[in-house]
Amino acid sequence: MARAKSYRTIAVANGIAADKAFGAVTPPLYLSSNFAFSKFEQSQDYEYSRTSNPTRDVLADTLAKLEGGSGAVVTPTGMSAIHLLLSRVPAGGLVIAPYDCYGGTYRLLAALKERHQLDVVFIDQSDSAALTSAIQREPSLVWVETPSNPLMRVVDIRGIVELAGGWNVKVAVDNTFLSPALQQPLGLGADYVVHSTTKYLNGHSDVVGGAIVASDPSEVEALRSWANITGATGSPFDSYLTLRGIRTLFARVERQQSTALVIADFLLQHPAVSAVHYPGLPSHPTHGIAARQQRGWGAMLSFELKGGIEAVRPFVASLGIFTLAESLGGVESLVAHPSTMTHAGMSVETRRLAGITDGLLRMSVGLEAEEDLIDDLTQSLSLIA
Ligand SMILES: *Cc1c(COP(=O)(O)O)cnc(C)c1O
Repeated sequence: MARAKSYRTIAVANGIAADKAFGAVTPPLYLSSNFAFSKFEQSQDYEYSRTSNPTRDVLADTLAKLEGGSGAVVTPTGMSAIHLLLSRVPAGGLVIAPYDCYGGTYRLLAALKERHQLDVVFIDQSDSAALTSAIQREPSLVWVETPSNPLMRVVDIRGIVELAGGWNVKVAVDNTFLSPALQQPLGLGADYVVHSTTKYLNGHSDVVGGAIVASDPSEVEALRSWANITGATGSPFDSYLTLRGIRTLFARVERQQSTALVIADFLLQHPAVSAVHYPGLPSHPTHGIAARQQRGWGAMLSFELKGGIEAVRPFVASLGIFTLAESLGGVESLVAHPSTMTHAGMSVETRRLAGITDGLLRMSVGLEAEEDLIDDLTQSLSLIA
């Protein structure tokens, strides 16, 4: 590892052949909740697994290196990572969030505001006038999500960081949709990166997990301490599986995004489809920012059926390879219907403002053969064209 230069190598090799007990090539899974004291009255690295666990630590170290941060805290879910990060906002502090953020994040922020624990304003972060006036209110945190869910709107992380930096405001980026293989927000000046490791990092739809990576070591310490106090630390088994998933992160994401581009082009040409939202298309409104900021277009896209919800019903019912399900980032291809699934908790008016129509479908492109996926779409779309 001392020689690893590329992030791809870090993903594959961090922690490999580092086992001191038996020389295990794969970092062992330590399920033990507690560790024997080697000496009376002497503290040691591992005592109790809520506080620290060797398996979870290898994952945290790998995530920190992949995001270019000084450390990471591994949490049981993506939402617990977001909640943990919000513990850094002082009581009554203001959070600036995007109006089209992840549904669970929206619900958490709205609930914390309702309980007067913090204040929040939801804005369109690509509107620089709205962003500037929000930042002049001296928030504690700007929450960024890019590309957004489900319309894949890309915002300029460096631009937001520069604006926020003038007011000494911290910036957190939810990097779930791209993963560090395609985007590293800390390198663009953000203070924190948050992940639902449930998605691309684990990549096999068999774990829910989360993480925060911070650039400042004292922030890592503060987050780690609060995670231990509140018990928001990830399980060793989930950590083991997530690290196993990360080994193939680059290979998966690269293959998935190349298929996604083919599918986006296919959908764009189809008469039953009225719009395709994919940052890789030159027609996408934020294609230019994505080209500067990302190392790839990602494997998430959304599209609108001309026939609205009446077309969605037969379309999803006849899909054979794509599965109708929430979540994303696994090896299997999925479609989701945001207005009845992921974004059902938003009011109709909020959905309308966010541009989420009833004919909109979100797609997570997996690792199946490209021609099988195109065939599946061709057949299902033929029913409604
Ligand atoms: C899934 C997701 C979350 C929440 O993560 P969980 O692991 O489901 O708790 C947060 N942000 C984004 C962008 C997500 O896709």
